[in-house]
Amino acid sequence: MRDPFIKPLAILHKLQQNGYLAYFVGGSVRDFIIGRPIGDIDIATSARPEDVVRLFPKVIEVGIEHGTVVVVLENEPYEVTTFRTESDYKDFRRPEEVTFISSLEGDLERRDFTMNAIAMDENETLIDPFGGRNAIKRGIIETVGNADERFSEDALRMMRAVRFMSQLSFTITPEVKEAIRRNRHLLQNIAMERISVEFQKLMLGNKATEAFRTIVDTGLLDILPLYEKKELIEYDWTTISEETSAWSLLCLILEVEDTALFLRKWKLSNKRIKETEKTVIFYRSIKEWTPFAIYQSGLEVALRVNHLKRILQGVQSEEEKIRLIYESLPIYSPKDIEANGKDLVSWGNRAQGPWIAQCIQELSENIVCGKIENDRNVIKEWVSKWSLKFDESC
Ligand code: ATP
Ligand code: MG
Repeated sequence: MRDPFIKPLAILHKLQQNGYLAYFVGGSVRDFIIGRPIGDIDIATSARPEDVVRLFPKVIEVGIEHGTVVVVLENEPYEVTTFRTESDYKDFRRPEEVTFISSLEGDLERRDFTMNAIAMDENETLIDPFGGRNAIKRGIIETVGNADERFSEDALRMMRAVRFMSQLSFTITPEVKEAIRRNRHLLQNIAMERISVEFQKLMLGNKATEAFRTIVDTGLLDILPLYEKKELIEYDWTTISEETSAWSLLCLILEVEDTALFLRKWKLSNKRIKETEKTVIFYRSIKEWTPFAIYQSGLEVALRVNHLKRILQGVQSEEEKIRLIYESLPIYSPKDIEANGKDLVSWGNRAQGPWIAQCIQELSENIVCGKIENDRNVIKEWVSKWSLKFDESC
């Protein structure tokens, strides 16, 4: 057994010593066979959740009604899920209720794709009743059983199919493609939060353009909040590896007017919406990489916009120039100015008011552009002159 399975092997052993079956399952086994970096390790067992809770000292009872107990081992969480079937799918979503069963095969059968329906025991022996290994070898995504049935049970699986295309550089079978076309409307029953998670993984995958092509070909384009814009397939997404860049590129390609409104439809976090909005606004306003532009955007946003310009306009990267300018900025925020609000009130000889913000803004710009030095005496003189001019303009 190889890393990272060595540590959780102890969970398998403990369950087996107590008379239960236990296997590694799902994405970690798939990625192990492919040779990709392995993410979360999931375990399937014949033990009931209450038995799992009893056997391990540190557990988190998150999804116990669905049969999942998180076992914590040396600060690492592992999901241990009781073999189960899912029935009574309501509204084309995952079922509310699950039935615990005693066979591994039954558990593998409920899984979405053959590549995800492989179990691995403690000797690296694979249990693969649906030909998942073969599918992996051929690089294809096929459902366990009839695709129409599986997508109408749980419509999110259609999004999972296209995101795996992008992440794994696999292709979907013609059967899966046709079934997506026929069942695409069912996606409307799925919570946007869950669709969004899959879509983000798709954008960050290696073959996003190919996945977008499938989204266009199957008509999923009209179901998702994508403004029915086929232009998605015209750009090279391969260098996009960070979430905010991905959402920003999406907004720019779709020519979204109200970024925040659009991203709220996708149910993104406020933090992500703010970051993306800042990036998009900056992209649309920047004409030249001046020190003040870079001061206003900050290094992270500037580099992101530089990257987006390369993708969207095919221009050369100006990363080196941006970094140099950033490193030589005299200040990085108003806090770095050698004067505070109190000083301005006294030097400007006027009562506190909204003028302070305006004064700081102009002062920052002048310091960043090198017009005045960040020195108390110089600033004092500048502020008193500014204050006089301010009087005249009022
Ligand atoms: P990732 O590498 O992104 O985690 P994954 O395949 O492990 O991919 P998870 O969402 O972690 O995806 O799910 C773990 C396993 O549970 C899957 O491999 C699959 O066997 C099963 N599974 C997950 N979602 C579904 C679903 N909607 N329908 C059927 N089986 C599913
Ligand atoms: Mg996983």
